[in-house]
Amino acid sequence: MQQVNIYPDYYQDFHCLADKCTDSCCEKWEIVVDDESAYKYEKTSGDIGKKFRSSMMIDDDGDRIFKLIDDRCPFLEKSGLCEIHRVLGEDALCNTCREYPRAVQDHGNIAEHDLSLSCPEAARLILLGDREPFYIEYIYDIPDDEICYDIELMDLLKDSRRKMLDMIWDTSDPLPVIIEKCLKYAFFVQESIGKEEYSSVYLNDINKEDIPDLSYSNILNGYLSGEILTDEFKQSLEDAAALGEGSFNSSKFDEARSVIDSFENVFKRLCTYYLNRYWLRAAFNGDAAGECIIMVKAFITVRRLCLAYYEKNKELSISALLRIIQLYSKETEHNADDL
Ligand code: SF4
Repeated sequence: MQQVNIYPDYYQDFHCLADKCTDSCCEKWEIVVDDESAYKYEKTSGDIGKKFRSSMMIDDDGDRIFKLIDDRCPFLEKSGLCEIHRVLGEDALCNTCREYPRAVQDHGNIAEHDLSLSCPEAARLILLGDREPFYIEYIYDIPDDEICYDIELMDLLKDSRRKMLDMIWDTSDPLPVIIEKCLKYAFFVQESIGKEEYSSVYLNDINKEDIPDLSYSNILNGYLSGEILTDEFKQSLEDAAALGEGSFNSSKFDEARSVIDSFENVFKRLCTYYLNRYWLRAAFNGDAAGECIIMVKAFITVRRLCLAYYEKNKELSISALLRIIQLYSKETEHNADDL
């Protein structure tokens, strides 16, 4: 049996911005501390040891976390540097801090590695580029073991993801049309899964009408009724909601739309990220349509947030666009309920 580890070409280029970061992962989020690190922290001597013991608590989900103080990790110093790193060195960081924003989707013998879009520096690497990222595969033999997924289903999912990525990168239709086609195609894949017919689903199958209501007001209201970390995100959702249903295609927004469309490659890389990150999970949960909807919701929501931003500021720079996407990811991607 073979183990396959897959990395996008930008993965190795990541370096934490530390005190230069514009939206540190040490703010707003509670850091979950793994058992091994907690054990070490409990035994640490000196002032920092006392601080460890007074900072750790069990949250409502039963996770051990560092209590935030004024929405900041208690070890985030005013300088923007980490006190644990400064006093005890990198090896003393808990798994969450050592690994973020590196993330892995572990599908048994296939491990797909990526960075998380919620980190500003990772977002820059993920989103900037005029082509689909390359993927680097490391393959090695491992002892025979039971494969924990249906091989035919996994092959169908890998094949169908490739077809959707080819649609996104290789066809000349406008991107919103392609994304709608991807969604319809995903529903055909879903039907195949339901019938346990895993032969290839062809692109000329994609005329399905029976897809859910993904109107952006439904999507935005869903986010607005959930937990929101920052006032900035709440305000941008409210601005977008105030534009009204059907506004995106109105001639009133021609100029804004053409600016947003000029960032087509950013949106293509955004959709690529979401498909790569989530689609293969359907080999385990059987929900190909749901995994595709995560990508479609990101595409629809980010475009509406851009439209609202343009209406308010009369411009949309690449850095503003990256900020919108990074914040969207930070607010939604690390909470399964929001996806
Ligand atoms: S969000 Fe990213 S760049 Fe910023 S501090 Fe965290 S890991 Fe570093």
